[in-house]
Amino acid sequence: MSDEQKMSVTVLLPAGRLPLDIMAKAHSLAGKYSLKVYLSNAQNLRIMEIPETELEEIKSSLAAVGATFKAKGKFPLPKVCVGNNSCNLGTIDTEALSGVIVDKFSGRKHTKAKFKIVISGCTLCCSGAKTTDIGIIGTRDGFEMYVGGKGGPFPKIGMRIGKKLAEDEVVEMVETLVEFHDKKTEKKQRIFKLLKDPDFPYSEV
Ligand code: SF4
Repeated sequence: MSDEQKMSVTVLLPAGRLPLDIMAKAHSLAGKYSLKVYLSNAQNLRIMEIPETELEEIKSSLAAVGATFKAKGKFPLPKVCVGNNSCNLGTIDTEALSGVIVDKFSGRKHTKAKFKIVISGCTLCCSGAKTTDIGIIGTRDGFEMYVGGKGGPFPKIGMRIGKKLAEDEVVEMVETLVEFHDKKTEKKQRIFKLLKDPDFPYSEV
């Protein structure tokens, strides 16, 4: 048996949508190199068991069909539920809002780790907007925003910092929180650890 090291690569999927070209390429590469394909909890496509010697070749084949890859310092893609295009209960187009956020922030040079954004199309929160760093929830009366939630072994529900918000107010609050997290974080930090900071820019509503 070969003792060559096995690697993995994570293809970023904005709004959890898997473009057909990337799906076809991942399928053919997985067949050719006996790779495993995993749909990650963050809604990305992780391709695993890649022989180290094939990693660059596989990445360039995927990049050639438009794939971009998870990397240290990249702004996180929001995790979303399907939203009102595919769910009767949805009040917002979660894919479109994710696109607005990605367009605005993906050019940031370096975003410190442990920072997640989730968008839910209604208060049922299928994507977990109340248990993440920044949670955006569509309601019939505008958006609600939660901050400082987390999952893991000791889950926490975030604090509501906005209600009846318009989309541009949501984007502005995300920007304020991103900047605050950046300023107050050395390397990596979940936002719940910053809620008691005297300079925290929002209070519970
Ligand atoms: S959070 Fe609401 S809109 Fe989104 S999938 Fe769940 S029920 Fe549908």
